[in-house]
Amino acid sequence: MASGSASARAPQVQDENPSCNDVASFKAADIVVQLCENRKPKPESENLPFGTVFTDHMLLIEWSREGGWEKPRIQPFGNLSLHPACAALHYGVQLFEGMKAYRGQDDRVRLFRPMLNMKRMLKSAHRACLPSFDAAELLECIRKLVEVDQDWVPHSESASLYIRPAFLGTESKLGVMVSSHALLFVVLSPVGFYFSTGNNSVSLWADSKYIRAWKGGTGDCKMGGNYGASIVAQCEAMKFGCQQVLWLYGDDHQITEVGTMNLFLYWINEEGEEELATPPLDGIILPGITRQSILELARKWGEFKVSERYLTMAELRLAVEQKRVREMFGSGTACVVSRVGRVLYQGENLQIPCGDESNSLVSRLLKELTDIQYGRTESDWTFLV
Ligand SMILES: *Cc1c(COP(=O)(O)O)cnc(C)c1O
Repeated sequence: MASGSASARAPQVQDENPSCNDVASFKAADIVVQLCENRKPKPESENLPFGTVFTDHMLLIEWSREGGWEKPRIQPFGNLSLHPACAALHYGVQLFEGMKAYRGQDDRVRLFRPMLNMKRMLKSAHRACLPSFDAAELLECIRKLVEVDQDWVPHSESASLYIRPAFLGTESKLGVMVSSHALLFVVLSPVGFYFSTGNNSVSLWADSKYIRAWKGGTGDCKMGGNYGASIVAQCEAMKFGCQQVLWLYGDDHQITEVGTMNLFLYWINEEGEEELATPPLDGIILPGITRQSILELARKWGEFKVSERYLTMAELRLAVEQKRVREMFGSGTACVVSRVGRVLYQGENLQIPCGDESNSLVSRLLKELTDIQYGRTESDWTFLV
């Protein structure tokens, strides 16, 4: 019978990982709000170091295998209390997200394509064997949290409110197992804008000594372990006088990502075509929402070839030599786009052109994306809080 093997397999998968499967989601309508008595003073938003100041409230949602999801709570910002055997602390049963709320000149607060963050978070949760939830319900809970702390969204088009959801396995036994308890929480932090124009291009250390992600691993999920393990490489890059790591993969030294950003190369390719290229989502690349948005914008413009393709260091070195590279940049929520000015590879400095300041692709992308984020351009990519 055709259905035999399929139906024999499905229950087996469920048994292995009971908490991944359809559980009734928490509901935003059930939120319990407890407001703090004293609001903290707001800092000057322009020169805030990233992620150092937090708002007055946070969102917490607990789950257990026996009880399912509890009611979401918005409560005063404060420390968590965790059992010392907590799975997140020992085995990295953990994941996070990163998104921002932007206040436009019209004083309205917007999120940028937030459902994509919710869906990516669900994918990471599945990889960590943490329970599922309804993406739209979580987005509504986050919207409500931002609304409660809306005075913290900077009144500036060069700053924003960073939104950090995190999800922890809180199993309080030392065995490596699917967590029977979990905690999803969201904190908010006002941040200044990282301008990627002018001379502040980044220098990169390209070396195959450390590998960020590998096939079958977790590089395509925002799981904490990927980042904790990358710090040593970042330190080594700085010893070599570089600011960030250019992550390579495989014997052919494929270019994958830069620091915690996706990577784009705007060049004349081997065929002589003008091309904007970024590595394909083959499991070792984090599926960035800025990456996706840049690809969609550039494809809509239709002015040059836009490719998701492999790029190697040999190809980059040759292109730099033959002056075929126009611009190279990283992309991510924190900075939108960030120019690469130099790559140190096998003892050689590859100088990357930065394009004409006003006419560059980086400047154009930065403008188009921030125009949408701050509501200067109408777009169905924005979500009003
Ligand atoms: C978060 C992240 C990105 C960028 O993703 P966005 O959704 O654009 O912010 C790229 N690479 C890595 C490794 C990341 O963690």
